[in-house]
Amino acid sequence: MSLLSVHHLTKRFGGNTAVQDISFDLKQGELLALIGPNGAGKSTTFNMVGGQLPASSGSVVFDGREVLGRSSRHIAQLGIGRTFQVAATFASLTVMENVQMALLSHRRKVYSFWRSAAGRYQDEARQLLEQVGMATQVDRPCSELAYGDVKRVELAMSLAGKPRLLLMDEPTAGMASAERNALIALVKRLVVQNNMAVLFTEHSMDVVFAYADRILVLARGQLIAQGSAEQIRAHPKVQEVYFGTGKTFEDLAPGDA
Ligand code: ADP
Ligand code: MG
Repeated sequence: MSLLSVHHLTKRFGGNTAVQDISFDLKQGELLALIGPNGAGKSTTFNMVGGQLPASSGSVVFDGREVLGRSSRHIAQLGIGRTFQVAATFASLTVMENVQMALLSHRRKVYSFWRSAAGRYQDEARQLLEQVGMATQVDRPCSELAYGDVKRVELAMSLAGKPRLLLMDEPTAGMASAERNALIALVKRLVVQNNMAVLFTEHSMDVVFAYADRILVLARGQLIAQGSAEQIRAHPKVQEVYFGTGKTFEDLAPGDA
């Protein structure tokens, strides 16, 4: 059974159709990549699923419930998380404090006000930081961390809401190739360990082919292909949009697609 079912999802901005009638499914325990040239409609798709942007038409069913029309806050409560964009961490706070803050914002328990701030959710925060390989750096201020480590802390923060589906729009933006691989390898492990589902965008085809269970290809708002790495590599339409040009998706302007 599908955890997420997207049917005929469409978004128009005036006369421009950013996402046109796309349909796809996502199962629990699946790492699904959404790829395509800049302007293809990837972020718009994320924003409709996460409730940041209203859809023009279509449906998005998560765990049996229609999510279109609900607030982003409500959608997060249903179990769809999003990774934070750049600089989502508080630089002056420690790694531990940042994750505690994230836990606090997700669990507004009535009794929490009388417990000391420092003690709140410490065990849970430590556990999340262990999951992302940051357990040895809990007391460091985030301002001192390497970029890839900040991204790990952000990932721990996004896990604080216990999402069953995590949406990650360009999680490796600004990273060097080795860091990209390490972060997506970590996400892949979390998907397996926690039986989570993840939808992510990524510009590096090597990373996508190495880790994604399945790949969706968007071009000019349309889903032109979906399948395994082998199927996508061999797909004539994908080759037309991407491989034939000898460019990466990142290099392609929307007009080239
Ligand atoms: P991608 O994430 O794949 O690079 P986007 O989803 O950001 O693509 O954009 C898809 C198309 O929608 C682009 O043509 C973009 O200019 C347009 N678009 C995105 N957001 C808006 C907006 N808020 N208003 C008008 N047009 C938008
Ligand atoms: Mg985008």
